[in-house]
Formats: sequence, C-alpha cells, structure tokens
Amino acid sequence: MGGGAPIWLGMEAPSPMNPLHVVCPHCHTTNRVQAADLGKGPDCGSCHQPLFSGEPVNLSATEFERHVGRSQLPVLVDFWAPWCGPCRMMAPAFEQAARQLEPRVQLVKVNTDEAQGLGAQLNIRSIPTLALFVGGREVARQAGAMGAADIVRWTQGQLSRTSAPA
Ligand SMILES: [Zn+2]
Repeated sequence: MGGGAPIWLGMEAPSPMNPLHVVCPHCHTTNRVQAADLGKGPDCGSCHQPLFSGEPVNLSATEFERHVGRSQLPVLVDFWAPWCGPCRMMAPAFEQAARQLEPRVQLVKVNTDEAQGLGAQLNIRSIPTLALFVGGREVARQAGAMGAADIVRWTQGQLSRTSAPA
C-alpha cells in the first residue's frame, strides 16, 4: 500500500523546475522539495531535522498560519487540549495516521488552550476536531475522536473528493 498518484489538488504539478514547498515542523522554514524526494525522508535544509517525523508537532497560532499558508501539501490539523480525555486517547491514533499519511499529507497539532484566538477564529466548537487544509483553505472538518484507520480513511476520502472536478 501507500502507492497511488500523489494528489496535487489543482495546484501546479511539481516538476524539477517547480519543487514543492514544504514547511519544516521544527523550525518552520519553507523548504523546496522535489516531489520524487518526498518519500526519501527529506531533512530540513535549515535545522536538518526530518520534514516528516511521523510524530505530529504542536504548532502555535502563528506557526499554524505559516504552515497552512505556505505548504503545498495538504495539512491535517488535530485541534486538542491537555485536559480533554478523548483528545489524549486519540493522540496515539493521530501519530499512527501520520506514519501512514506522510509524506502525502502533513499532520500537525494545535493546542486550543494555547491558541485560543485561532480556535475562535476558526470556530472550533468542540475538541478533538480534525480539520484538513489544502492550499490555505479548510476543505473538511470532523469533530470527535477517531481511530487511526478512520483518520486515514477520512483524510483520503476528503482529498479524493476535493481533487474531483466540481
Ligand atoms: Zn527545520
């Protein structure tokens, strides 16, 4: 598994002349990565940490805006909070999903206690909530805890729907 054509969602298809923009989850530098190198465990050119670690990183509101605004990969966000039991239960499932979905999708987390303004701006009403962003726009949202297989299936389903002609 894990094959299949990458999803470019109407964005200009990457080519050697046109590498993908991928935002580093550690230092938030925008890297230019050739599509063919995505699966080779690319490191960040700035901080030299892996761009896809399989361990979703917690982002501040500012970092979130940067990722969603600049990444040319779909970004799946887990909105959570430390006091939320179902969120803590879902955390290992989200990590498992990251190992399956990366590097075709980038998975990150936002602590809504720390990023309250962002939660309000996006109208996050309950947690955990998963939201999928493509090209800076939210394309899908799902509230409630999910298992790893469901997270993967939901994300792939949303992406295939999004990339279908309107
Ligand atoms: Zn970096």
